[in-house]
Amino acid sequence: MRLFLDTAQLLKLDPRVALELSEPHHEIMFTITVDINNRMVEFTPEEYAQRGKDYEDLLESSLDPKYYNILANGQVSFRPRIFASSDTTVRDGVLRLFGGRLYHIHPRRPEQLRCYRVQHNNIRGPYKGGIRYHHQVSLDLFKLLAAEMTWKTAISDIPFGGGKGGIRMDPRNYSDDEIERISLRFMYKLKPFIGPNTDIPAPDVGTNSVIMGHFFRQYSDGEAEYHRLRGVVTGKDARIWGSEGREMATGRGLFYCIEEWLRHRQSPSADRLIAPEKVSWQDVNFTMQGYGNVGSAFARIAVPRGAKLVAVNDRDGTIYDPAGIDPEALQEYVASPTNVKHSVEGFPKARSIHLDEFWGLDAFLFVPAALGGVINAEVAHKLNVKLVAEGANGPCTLDGEEVLRERGIGIIPDIIANAGGVIVSYYEWLQNNRQEHWTEAKVNERLSEAIKSNYNVILDIAANRPRRTPFWDSTRYVTGEPLDMRMAAMVLALRRLEAHYKLEGFSQ
Ligand code: NAD
Repeated sequence: MRLFLDTAQLLKLDPRVALELSEPHHEIMFTITVDINNRMVEFTPEEYAQRGKDYEDLLESSLDPKYYNILANGQVSFRPRIFASSDTTVRDGVLRLFGGRLYHIHPRRPEQLRCYRVQHNNIRGPYKGGIRYHHQVSLDLFKLLAAEMTWKTAISDIPFGGGKGGIRMDPRNYSDDEIERISLRFMYKLKPFIGPNTDIPAPDVGTNSVIMGHFFRQYSDGEAEYHRLRGVVTGKDARIWGSEGREMATGRGLFYCIEEWLRHRQSPSADRLIAPEKVSWQDVNFTMQGYGNVGSAFARIAVPRGAKLVAVNDRDGTIYDPAGIDPEALQEYVASPTNVKHSVEGFPKARSIHLDEFWGLDAFLFVPAALGGVINAEVAHKLNVKLVAEGANGPCTLDGEEVLRERGIGIIPDIIANAGGVIVSYYEWLQNNRQEHWTEAKVNERLSEAIKSNYNVILDIAANRPRRTPFWDSTRYVTGEPLDMRMAAMVLALRRLEAHYKLEGFSQ
């Protein structure tokens, strides 16, 4: 918000335009209720000590693995039936599983979840932004993230506005069939507020292409022309008319931004988008926080080009190997169904280190690709890198950024660094509306051009260097003074948004 206000002041933005952009158009909050499966909750150590002996003679129950999921919190979600009182492997709602451990049965029950959708601004096109399933979300957070989407779609020059939403829940504590029911119920309630030309959700933290498939099914269910509605949600699996390349797009966009950053280091006045082979990735060793969609995609694109992944921290642990971590093997490990937390913790080909050691590792690049607010002043002092490329949304706090700047550490700001996902979402929406299916090569080529040309406009604004090249034109955006990259990006966003208010005017 401070960045927005400072930039609006710098640009002497029309006060009415500034007011229009300062608050979301709509803040939608609702609850859903869903049935949660039977749960098996293991005895606590105290319960084992006090009552374990009472069940010594209890025989072990057999569960068919296809009917249960072990969840991240250690509970077992079990689908089909409540055990009958005649069942000899159950006593007082207690049963023995998995080689002797004792569990209480918590029978199927309804649960209420809080849901959000913030529609920030649609002057440039339909509201656009992800759906997050996470236990630490709030209306304030979604207001911030929805505004970020308005800036990001403007910077990317795609005809969308900004929105964001989600559910307050930890998805790792729900089984796949529960997630499906939650997603269907969420979309049932959200449907009146969205549409392919109104508001277009996409994946974010805790959601993925499978959930986007559930959303589409619920939204289009019973509609005669449902194939016309596919553009209501992006980030779908390519086999159900998602876009080729969408899964990797945010990581790929990040890769293109860093490539431009490296290229300008080699030749600061370059005014062409030169062949990427000329850029050296060999010197880029990097550490990363988060190995989900964004982090893993970036690593799997950058490492084959010569970069070296030396350490990864996620919610459950930190791993380190100075000789380099194989991103494909790590991806396989994290995605394995037996890795219930989907964490890098315990990856056998790297050693585990403490978070403090992680922050101080000597590397060229740090990629935050998890949650916001992680780089505070303390972390910024510890980071021993030349560049921070913001895969996550809002990873730097204000004082953290200040410290990075003082220490001369470069920053590629989130609104351009992680815009690849929303840009390819736009391509997906275009393909859906035109009933086309593009090759991945075509998607990546368009993405590269879009990211790199807009990145160069931002760079020109930052350097106060107006240029018209065959690839981009920054002449109408420079402000007459040099700016840092984040403010330069905001200048581009506000100028593009302002043009709509100026040229279209207001309905009174
Ligand atoms: P994801 O759910 O696929 O992965 C999140 C990762 O963050 C996991 O590895 C998780 O362990 C880690 N994490 C969660 N909490 C953590 C904590 N407290 N400490 C350390 N690590 C933690 O999410 P994603 O889609 O990869 O998104 C990551 C970030 O990128 C988010 O900030 C998101 O808003 C942003 N983003 C995502 C996209 C996209 O297309 N997916 C696009 C733009 C921005």
